[in-house]
Amino acid sequence: MSNKTISTVFILSLLCTILMIITQYFWIKKAYELEKNIFHTHVTVALKNVAFYILKANNNYSSVDSIVSKVDPSYYTVQINDKIDSVVLVSLLKREMLAQQIKIDFEYSVYDCGSDQMKYGGYVNYNQKEQAEEIHLTDFPKTKNQNNYFAIHFPNINSYLTNEMTNWYFSSLVLLMFLLILAYAVFIIFRQKRLSEVQKDFVNNMTHEFKTPLATIKISSEVLKNPNIINNPERLLNYATIINNETQHLTNQVERVLQMAKSGKDGISLNREEFELSPLLEMMLDKTYRPLVRSRGGDIIVDITPIDMKVYADELHFKNVISNLLDNAIKYCTNNPMIHIHCKYENNGISICIQDNGIGIPKENLHQVFDKFFRISTGNLHDVKGFGLGLNYVKLICKQHGGNIKVESELGKGSEFCIFIPNLRKS
Ligand code: ADP
Repeated sequence: MSNKTISTVFILSLLCTILMIITQYFWIKKAYELEKNIFHTHVTVALKNVAFYILKANNNYSSVDSIVSKVDPSYYTVQINDKIDSVVLVSLLKREMLAQQIKIDFEYSVYDCGSDQMKYGGYVNYNQKEQAEEIHLTDFPKTKNQNNYFAIHFPNINSYLTNEMTNWYFSSLVLLMFLLILAYAVFIIFRQKRLSEVQKDFVNNMTHEFKTPLATIKISSEVLKNPNIINNPERLLNYATIINNETQHLTNQVERVLQMAKSGKDGISLNREEFELSPLLEMMLDKTYRPLVRSRGGDIIVDITPIDMKVYADELHFKNVISNLLDNAIKYCTNNPMIHIHCKYENNGISICIQDNGIGIPKENLHQVFDKFFRISTGNLHDVKGFGLGLNYVKLICKQHGGNIKVESELGKGSEFCIFIPNLRKS
């Protein structure tokens, strides 16, 4: 699948998802309003009927059309303007509420003209469970009208309406699950795509890395096949050395790949011991890196404080870590490489920072450079070959030692990689 198709699929699914969520939200809001209206209609009918029967019992045949008022969705008043018998009221309320399928607890109170106060009538349990524990007369505010009226309060109106919405909530849950599965599927597609790209890059890089030494070995062995070479021992030694070096190079490359493949499963086992940093570093620099950097018009400056600094680490892996960082500092530099190495004690461990003046790393890639097989190849930033394994290995080794690695970089100016190795010495 091409990048364009994947992006289109992704954007379309995102749009559909947003649309579905918005639609569902509005449907639920509408359904909630509808439930509220249905409840209001049923309550109004029930209360009108109650009023009708009370007035009828008093031989009063006034209209009941507009005597029910909704103060808020949980509070209704019924302006009877006539005598109200509490016992009759409660039995009528129970009967008419049930007739209207209003299956919810309610409280009622009656306005007492004599004391000009609301008199609490009682709590009616829809399912006849225990009585309400607290009674709040404040739930029954008085109306301006001073004639007889009664009021109904539904304390559990919100949970009742929510219960009535169960089907809607269930459908939303199903939709949400569907969207989560969709998101997961998109995530898998992206991951697979990235993996296949990484694999392709890796194969390309590996082919290149192996092809060059193989070609050199082939040419050198062709020369060695010439019977006359025996008369020129210097040339013979020269070509034999080339073959030897290239074979060593190939062996190292294979070892690196194998090392990384193995480390994924079991980690790398360390053999930690204490050694002095300065001699080891100077030996590495003098043997390999200084000549290389100086041949390109650059230099390596080292600052170790204190000079007799000790490291407690696996010496072999530690050397590999430093080599990888120095290799990169030189590889990813297009001008005269100027490398600064700062070493100091820090937080019960040592910190080593390798700073270069190379091509730098774009901000958006800084967190990716430690990923296995990751290489910055986009935008033709560089054409240096590699496996994208070096920094992953460095991070792994630092972590294995209980330490870490950090990078700071500015595109076009250079990078600084700092490793920290704690002095986790067993005493
Ligand atoms: P490799 O060098 O084999 O590609 P690494 O894991 O060592 O693999 O590095 C990963 C990527 O990080 C490199 O491809 C390169 O783009 C970038 N990188 C690493 N070190 C530096 C550096 N010092 N300066 C600029 N870019 C770097």
